[in-house]
Amino acid sequence: KERNNNEPEFLQAVEEVAETVIPYIVEHEIYNGKSILLRMVEPERVITFRVCWVNDAGEIQVNRGYRIQMNSAIGPYKGGLRFHPTVNMSILKFLAFEQVFKNSLTTLPMGGGKGGSDFDPKGKSDGEIMRFCHAFMSELFRHIGPNTDVPAGDMGVGAREIGFLFGMYKKLKNEFTGVLTGKGLSWGGSLIRPEATGYGTVYFAQKMLETKGQDLEGKHVVVSGSGNVAQYAVEKCIQLGAKVLTMSDSSGYIYDNEGINTEKLALIMELKNVKRARISEYIKTYPNSKFIKAKTPWEVKCDIALPCATQNELNDEDAKVLLKNGCICVSEGANMPSTIKAVREFHKAKILYAPGKASNAGGVATSGLEMTQNSLRFNWTRDEVDLKLKEIMANIHDSCIKYGKTEDGYIDYVKGANIAGFVKVADAMLAQGIV
Ligand code: NDP
Repeated sequence: KERNNNEPEFLQAVEEVAETVIPYIVEHEIYNGKSILLRMVEPERVITFRVCWVNDAGEIQVNRGYRIQMNSAIGPYKGGLRFHPTVNMSILKFLAFEQVFKNSLTTLPMGGGKGGSDFDPKGKSDGEIMRFCHAFMSELFRHIGPNTDVPAGDMGVGAREIGFLFGMYKKLKNEFTGVLTGKGLSWGGSLIRPEATGYGTVYFAQKMLETKGQDLEGKHVVVSGSGNVAQYAVEKCIQLGAKVLTMSDSSGYIYDNEGINTEKLALIMELKNVKRARISEYIKTYPNSKFIKAKTPWEVKCDIALPCATQNELNDEDAKVLLKNGCICVSEGANMPSTIKAVREFHKAKILYAPGKASNAGGVATSGLEMTQNSLRFNWTRDEVDLKLKEIMANIHDSCIKYGKTEDGYIDYVKGANIAGFVKVADAMLAQGIV
């Protein structure tokens, strides 16, 4: 704690893991006394670097770039890049730490990492985005590689940014390799990768509901965010017959009592991905809906909540309102969107609650499948990738039951995901010795 006391998000992520993993370590002789968790919380390597670029007005801009190479016990570092003005060491270390457990849960051979920059993509032209991405990669390239560290997208980093980053990497290294995932389909990308995190979050909710003999058909769903994860979570909910009532961005949320259908979702995708506009524009086309400024959607009555925007977007007060309104299932698309106190409320009420490291692992799992396809120089079909994604989400669900089922039959998905993720990485670290 003392070493990282100015890193609140990182400490929060570690506390949540430690609460469940320390008792497990104490009970198991092979892990006890080996300082495994102490080793896991210290990144193997942290890289920070200057990123200089020139804006459209000809002015020189300076940002800070980061890559946290957290743990490579079970495979090359793997995890996204985030471009957002709030990016700092605490945020990236929490994300990298979560990533280690998440990647382990997928059963694919991937270590954990995360990176990004405090660069704010909002309001920037395509030319500015390209120049920033090129400048960022002109340093990062020397620290990554298909067998070393394979970054991907996260907030503020989508298909456009991955393209610019890949272009500069290829130029500098003079090689065409699967060094990034989330690539375009014609140059090494995988079908279903853009959809994977959102779809996987809903597949996980489906598996949780199955344990209660229920499904998504006719359920009322509240979603936060309107970026990559939220868009495809909503698409899958619609396909499975649920009624999605809300989506949001950092300015507030839209509430559509008639439900967001495929046509309405297409408008949101156009607004967010092409026009890069605010979600409030939605009510101009659908005047029966409402825009609620500067609020999160947790006050809306629902059966299922899918937080898909950002960390700590759902606190204990929000959790109490959701529970009072009859919410039975929370599946996290974002990373650590619920505060520790909110999670305690969900556990107290014994509802179905899945932490992001389990429920949003479909994104990185499909990135793993993209790496495999790149190595094989072969592409699987959409149905093949979707089937593998479904299988992986079902396996993660099984692992959560294996390690998280409590005596009264309640499934503590936090405990299950943490211990299942921990065991595989810890075993590899023990086998490799003290390095
Ligand atoms: P995007 O950048 O595509 O979308 C982020 C969304 O969250 C936007 O709608 C954004 O609104 C909203 N948002 C950002 N900050 C806030 C805030 N403070 N309050 C309310 N809304 C906010 O990112 P992704 O969809 O890729 O990522 C969303 C979450 O999912 C993150 O936690 C990410 O780490 C996690 N994740 C993503 C994966 C992926 O494959 N992309 C994989 C696994 C997890 P605005 O447009 O106003 O900024």
